[in-house]
Amino acid sequence: MIKFSQPVVRFAPSPTGNLHIGNARPALFNWLYAKQCQGIFILRYDDTDVIRSTREFADGIARDLAWLGIIPDRMERQSDRLDTYHAAAERLKQKGLLYPCYETADEIDRKRKRLMARGLPPIYDRSALRLSDEDRGRFEQQGRTPHWRFLLPNFTDNPFDTSRTEIAWDDLVRGHQIVDLSSLSDPVFIREDGSYLYTLPSVVDDIDMSVSHVIRGDDHVTNTGAQIPLFEALGAAAPVFGHHNLLTTADGEGLSKRLGSLSLSSLREDGYDPMAVSSLAALTGSSKSVEACKDMTSLADYFDMSAITKSAARFSMAELESLNAKIVHSLDYDEVRHRLEAVDADGGEAFWQAVRGNLQKIKDARLWMDVTSGDVVPVTDGADGVFWSAARELLPGEPWDKTTWKIWTSAIRDKTGSKGRALFMPLRQALTGVDRGPELAVLLPLIGREKTLHRLP
Ligand code: GLU
Repeated sequence: MIKFSQPVVRFAPSPTGNLHIGNARPALFNWLYAKQCQGIFILRYDDTDVIRSTREFADGIARDLAWLGIIPDRMERQSDRLDTYHAAAERLKQKGLLYPCYETADEIDRKRKRLMARGLPPIYDRSALRLSDEDRGRFEQQGRTPHWRFLLPNFTDNPFDTSRTEIAWDDLVRGHQIVDLSSLSDPVFIREDGSYLYTLPSVVDDIDMSVSHVIRGDDHVTNTGAQIPLFEALGAAAPVFGHHNLLTTADGEGLSKRLGSLSLSSLREDGYDPMAVSSLAALTGSSKSVEACKDMTSLADYFDMSAITKSAARFSMAELESLNAKIVHSLDYDEVRHRLEAVDADGGEAFWQAVRGNLQKIKDARLWMDVTSGDVVPVTDGADGVFWSAARELLPGEPWDKTTWKIWTSAIRDKTGSKGRALFMPLRQALTGVDRGPELAVLLPLIGREKTLHRLP
């Protein structure tokens, strides 16, 4: 009988900064994929870098994910699991697959430069493998502590005689991929100070947590070439991999300069809707058109991992704004009520229906609250005295409804001969203080007769 096990994905950020729209993408891709196949989503903090990782950043990441609607099924911290990594490192050392190296950073740099000067690729020459016990003892006496490298399986018998060794996988996003292990240096797994780089803990965790799909940025493609043999060295089958394109500016540059303003927390504070952010982050850089999906379920229905392109994904602020406006326009009063309350702009259902089509962001509703329920500075230089006295005189009595505007403006037209823009614009400016906005037919009953009269000169 075939046994189908539940897919398991993980988002593994290092809590050394805030999430921004670019690094929220792997979170979304993993989450959407899990949602599509009823999988498990693990949030795993890659926090072995104890100096740069903080609890505040970790909590901020969970908060930002929750804002996007991503609630992990499980949370893990690598800092809780160091013993497991020590045990795995020990197993690799026993097998001779993790070996101590004593070169200083300077010495390694000099070696690299020498190779490059000769037109050769700067691949580590494995000279540490030639050290005798005595050599190692001498280094230790000098106070050197080793860093540890993983011996890549790119040779038959002699590690100094490497040959082309293809590691291949079918990438969920990029299709068939090949990394030649003879083009890579043996990766450092453990630094001189005993701390782990991300490579080994990540694989140990993926094995222990039964991760079935590793979805991450395409800056990790080469790492995957080294990690697949590591899965095998630790006695496990490699998971499925998917490497997505990275987000750049419209000009194709890295987003780094704008990261502050594109952090999820600043986008939230600026009043962007989480679904505008998620729709853009998940769909830009794919062959599907970027649609404003109203909730995560519809985004998951629409999203297709294999539609992500190999070329960079471009970020456009204008696109984010237009998605945001579309989402705001589509929200019903019940969906938006508490958010209107939060920005002190809950003017009731009729108010929301009247203004939503004119908003870029929900908080912009505040302006229209001033128009309907507060004060505006009327602009009254668009017409002459004859016009304004007709407007005052002909203002219908209450109750008012949607037809009041038409009745009123027709009467002013008949009396003054003003029509079109010359009729409507002075009234709009006087009643709202601005040139543009929701239809006056719906706004007028919300403003009411008293305020209207007060704003007419
Ligand atoms: N902490 C790594 C990163 O943020 C995780 C990469 C991975 O998903 O394996 O790049």
